[in-house]
Parts: sequence; structure tokens; C-alpha cells
Amino acid sequence: MNNKEATLSIIKPDAVERDLTDEIKNIFIQNNLNIKDSKKIHISKDEAAEFYKVHQSKPFYNDLCAYLSSGPIVVMILEGENAVSLNRKIMGATDPNKAENNTIRKLYGISIDKNSVHGSDSQDNAKKEIDFFFKN
Ligand code: ATP
Ligand code: MG
Repeated sequence: MNNKEATLSIIKPDAVERDLTDEIKNIFIQNNLNIKDSKKIHISKDEAAEFYKVHQSKPFYNDLCAYLSSGPIVVMILEGENAVSLNRKIMGATDPNKAENNTIRKLYGISIDKNSVHGSDSQDNAKKEIDFFFKN
């Protein structure tokens, strides 16, 4: 069955700062996710607020937006069979302490907020998030 999808991945400031970008990219590649596009950017707090607006009612929203805009991030389009769910599996649970062994968050995550990566959670959101960062 062919179900090629695209999803958005972000390497968050904690991981970029620790020079983990290439290691994390290699994990995607080894798991059959092709990196179709990639760029290193530093977004403003307003842009982070727009990106994370689905979380605007959450108590951690302000900290989350401050954090994503606190330093450079790497945004990527990942492509492959079932890319949305495959990427989520490779990332592991939101809280690194609860993530399975060998997931990115288990390997590199520091805490629930500094959890090294973001991945779209549905095909609809993947389209919106890819447009957010890659549509001119
Ligand atoms: P992401 O959207 O970053 O891929 P996720 O889908 O696993 O992560 P969400 O529930 O969408 O998790 O939360 C978005 C982000 O908000 C998380 O990655 C995490 O950094 C932060 N977050 C989630 N829950 C909490 C919490 N209870 N306290 C602090 N930060 C949180
Ligand atoms: Mg999410």
C-alpha cells in the first residue's frame, strides 16, 4: 500500500543549541523519512504564538511561545510512508521521562518543555504547519 505523506518537524532550541541537528536528521533518514526541505530560522514570539495558537487556552501557552522563539530552530518537511504517525513514533511521548527507549525525546529531551522536537499530529495540521513555514 502506498500512503506517502508529508509532515512538519521542528528541532527545538534546546537541541539546536546542543548541536544535535545532524544526529536527529540521521534518525529520520534511517527510519525512511526523506528530508524534502530544511531551514534554520529564529522566529519571533508573535510568530510562535501564531504557530501554537491551538494551545492558547493552556496554562503553559505563554512559556511555550517564549521557548520556541528563544533561539534558532530547524524546520523541516519530512516525506515518506505514513510520515505523520511514523514521525510521532520516532519522536516519542511529549514528556521525555515517559518516552520509549531509542525515541528522540528519550535520547535527547531534557524536560516536557525542552523536549527537542515537534511533529505535526495529523495530516490536516501537517499541511497547515508546512504552509506556515514554507509557503512564501
Ligand atoms: P509537539 O506539538 O511539540 O510535537 P506534542 O504534540 O507531543 O508536542 P502537545 O500536547 O501538542 O504535545 O504540546 C505542545 C508542546 O507543549 C509540547 O511539545 C511541550 O513542549 C509543551 N507542553 C505540553 N504539555 C505541557 C505541560 N503539561 N507543561 C509544559 N509544557 C507542556
Ligand atoms: Mg502537538
